[in-house]
Amino acid sequence: MYSANIDIKGALADFSLEYTIPYYSFVPRLYNFCLSLGFDHGKILPSRAFCSDENQGYPNILIAKHFGTFPFNHGRVGGVIATDRHGPHSEHGKDLIIIHASHVGYDSETCSFGSYHRRHTEHFETTSSCGKIDSILEWYIAQYDFAKENIFLHRQNNEFLVSIDNQILNENMIEGLFLHLYKLVEVGSHGEFRPRKAYSTSKCYMVSSEFRELLGETAWPSNGRQPIGEKLLPELFSFKRHISGDPDTHGLLEENLIPPMPWIVSAKFPLLTAAQANTQVEFDRTYRTLINTKEAIGKQIIFISGLNIDISPHETQVFPLTAFVPWAAFIQEINGHYYTLEQKFILNRLLEQSDENLDAVDLEMAIQKMKETRKIEIRL
Ligand SMILES: [Zn+2]
Repeated sequence: MYSANIDIKGALADFSLEYTIPYYSFVPRLYNFCLSLGFDHGKILPSRAFCSDENQGYPNILIAKHFGTFPFNHGRVGGVIATDRHGPHSEHGKDLIIIHASHVGYDSETCSFGSYHRRHTEHFETTSSCGKIDSILEWYIAQYDFAKENIFLHRQNNEFLVSIDNQILNENMIEGLFLHLYKLVEVGSHGEFRPRKAYSTSKCYMVSSEFRELLGETAWPSNGRQPIGEKLLPELFSFKRHISGDPDTHGLLEENLIPPMPWIVSAKFPLLTAAQANTQVEFDRTYRTLINTKEAIGKQIIFISGLNIDISPHETQVFPLTAFVPWAAFIQEINGHYYTLEQKFILNRLLEQSDENLDAVDLEMAIQKMKETRKIEIRL
């Protein structure tokens, strides 16, 4: 049977994190990739679509250095792309590049994803990164934790049973975690789910053979019952939520994350999986808007999406060491022909470029020149 679940699981697994490129190497390679496609030196206007987090500023400094201009801003909080800004971006430059990334913090001491040392806080505090995505996940993780503790695997007289809290079974809930009950429970001859026994706040069912196979018989205690815990696999549930929408992304970030949410909440590092999923959804969505932007007709465009890994800085480091993991790229030629490069191909195209950029701007020198330039009076 066709299942959307397989698509989500497969898509997340296909985003390989095997190859990360530090920004100091990624940006000059990207610049040289632009030149290799015939982009006009000095006429390329980069744009970035990053979260508003200050740790996304370091890539911007490198983009400015290598492309010779501060990038246009396509970014909304959480790594959502402002697709309504293609028009002005197209007007401001001859050849265009959009660099998009969702981001996640990384702590090299604990080898864990999702947090970041904020060196400008009073006590060098560690907080979540991306904080916006984290605030969205909170509610879903609480629902998942409740389900893990209130669904029990139960063995009695060698019968395999599952007891489920009535709140989780309530199909009339406006929002919450919903089990794919047909996967867990034996279905009656008329397609009904008939409990073996009803308790005061839960019901007990005979499990389906599919569920028994999925978890393996050893998942059930030899006698009595135990919470399902981590064995509540993402294939077994989904979420429903009324999204009120935030002023910055109008709920788009949360909408992007709801279909893969069972995989996000059950992942080892939920913030990493969420950032990967958002990058994938945003690339697909934005590619479709770019091919329909009339201001982009006749323009050379590269749109590249990936994941920014913000490696927590030490107390003495001025800038963090941010790395980029490419996911996909969209290329449009002047004649209107366009194509996409999947992860392996865009990665190879970047790696075959030199990371030397002779056109890079000396930022210190450029700032010095500003001081030396004759003051221009602004007349009212
Ligand atoms: Zn963020």
